[in-house]
Amino acid sequence: MIYPATVNEQASAPGQIPPAPAEQPPVPGRFPCPCCGCQTFPVPKEEAVAFICPVCFWENDVFVPGEDQPSDENRGMTLAEGRAAYKKLGAVREDLVQYARKPLPEEIP
Ligand SMILES: [Zn+2]
Repeated sequence: MIYPATVNEQASAPGQIPPAPAEQPPVPGRFPCPCCGCQTFPVPKEEAVAFICPVCFWENDVFVPGEDQPSDENRGMTLAEGRAAYKKLGAVREDLVQYARKPLPEEIP
């Protein structure tokens, strides 16, 4: 049995669980987020039930048809409010800014 050079030096026990792979790079979506407009959604927003946009952290609410209707998924925030907050803060809520990421070049509308 041939081991890769890097593994060969270690006296690791057979059957050892390999280390977890490094964090995967973000996967660009193909459909626009209704809040920030970045193409972060893997499926159209009508099908993206409870999908949270990684850029603005808007939680997609398939049950809210309008922009000025409060969204339960977003603590009663409307889509219009979410957009305004994203422009100002970089996420829909101040406490979510730390989790949000910048859009990938291919996600920018
Ligand atoms: Zn978004």
